[in-house]
Amino acid sequence: ERAFRTAAADAAGRLTDHWRALASCDLPVVPPGPPGTTLKALPDSAPERGEDLAAILDDTWRTIVPELVHWQHPNFLGYYPTSNSPASVLAELVTAGLGVQGMMWSTSPAATELEQRVCDWLARALDLPARFTHASRQGGGVILDSASSAVLIAVVAGLHRASRGRWREHGTEGRLRVYCTDQANSCVPKAVRVAGAGEPVLVPTVPGAHVMDPAALAERVDADRAAGLVPAAVIATAGTTVTCATDPVPRIGAVCRERGIWLHVDAAYAGSAALCPELREDNTGLELADSYAVNAHKWLRTGTPCDVLWVADRKDLTDALGSTASYLRDNAGDSPEVVDFKDWQIPLGRPMRALKLWYVLRAHGLAELREVIRHDVRLAALLASLVEQEPGFHLVAHRFGLVVFRADTDDRTRELTRRLAEEADVLCTPALVDGRPVLRAALGSPYADETTVRRAWDLVRARAVSAS
Ligand code: PLP
Repeated sequence: ERAFRTAAADAAGRLTDHWRALASCDLPVVPPGPPGTTLKALPDSAPERGEDLAAILDDTWRTIVPELVHWQHPNFLGYYPTSNSPASVLAELVTAGLGVQGMMWSTSPAATELEQRVCDWLARALDLPARFTHASRQGGGVILDSASSAVLIAVVAGLHRASRGRWREHGTEGRLRVYCTDQANSCVPKAVRVAGAGEPVLVPTVPGAHVMDPAALAERVDADRAAGLVPAAVIATAGTTVTCATDPVPRIGAVCRERGIWLHVDAAYAGSAALCPELREDNTGLELADSYAVNAHKWLRTGTPCDVLWVADRKDLTDALGSTASYLRDNAGDSPEVVDFKDWQIPLGRPMRALKLWYVLRAHGLAELREVIRHDVRLAALLASLVEQEPGFHLVAHRFGLVVFRADTDDRTRELTRRLAEEADVLCTPALVDGRPVLRAALGSPYADETTVRRAWDLVRARAVSAS
């Protein structure tokens, strides 16, 4: 017991020092070692006899930490951010320490009810339609591990509903179809395949805009229906991964509503922006969606994993995913008041997922979290302006905390990408926009400020291939 107290205090101290080192850019963003470095440093077999927690902590900082990519580093501009905060870390410790499993209300009543309340808090804070709240008694939110899981659940619920319940027994029978664009995150086609519906139908985008063309969607859906197929679900994106573009949800929603097709809106990154009233434009039309998901672990100071999926009608989920094995039956489950989250997700078991979001929302408060978003949006605007002012660079896209840019020729962009990848001090993610190479820079480190953004940009431009 004493060993735990000492080691927990030691871990807290080491983490605090680590955060300070990140804030002052004293650590590289990218680790120095080639593939296999960590494997080489670790013994082949587990120890026969237990070791001191202090020694294990020492090894963590000696062997593991130096070979990590530091996602919280101010110069980490890759992918979309994975957020963190002391409140989130503390909640993870307490959650682990309590060690409960919340698959059903009866297996941990407070875990379930806390999750219901916290999902409602976040729905209200993001100004989502009231039908997504548990308070509506028909809809509600559930905390999952990822936006990928949210898409899979939405697809499965859509397939089940469109087949009038046949999907559970007979699968897709080769007839059920799911729709998205080529701008949807890679998790979307994966989820559609896993659900048994093959490749999604790729709906054309509006030329130059990287968003779904609602007229083309209506055309595809109607043609498929005329051919005897069953359009089951559309996955729209609010804030795409490559350019942070948002599909026109009101018009897509109208197409889906008229034809009884499930509409899921994947707002993994951009959904958090709706905390700020002035950044809420992507909420328009959400009353037409059947489900909506945001990764709190991207932009809400909550450590990964923490995705929130909201549905307008919880029965759609429980019909598709409900399980009733003898060992899962209890009296509580028969009550309409009771939510068993095992029937809202793919796995059976689940940790107490809500404590982390509860700690974060309470410790920061909505006002401070809004300032976090605004701060990152301001920093992205600064970076976008630096790109625009730089000869030999072009701004490709800029929205919320994301800046997408390229050099003046594709060869120069590729060479810049290669040079950046060789260095340890700044990380941007390469991608393709309209078939051309680009670099993405996403703000989100809690330690980033104007100075770090200017410094990171200096590092990028210093590696640019000069036009002369
Ligand atoms: N959807 C979008 C729009 C994303 O940008 C991402 C990741 O960046 C995902 C889904 C996948 O998120 P996750 O890793 O939580 O599955």
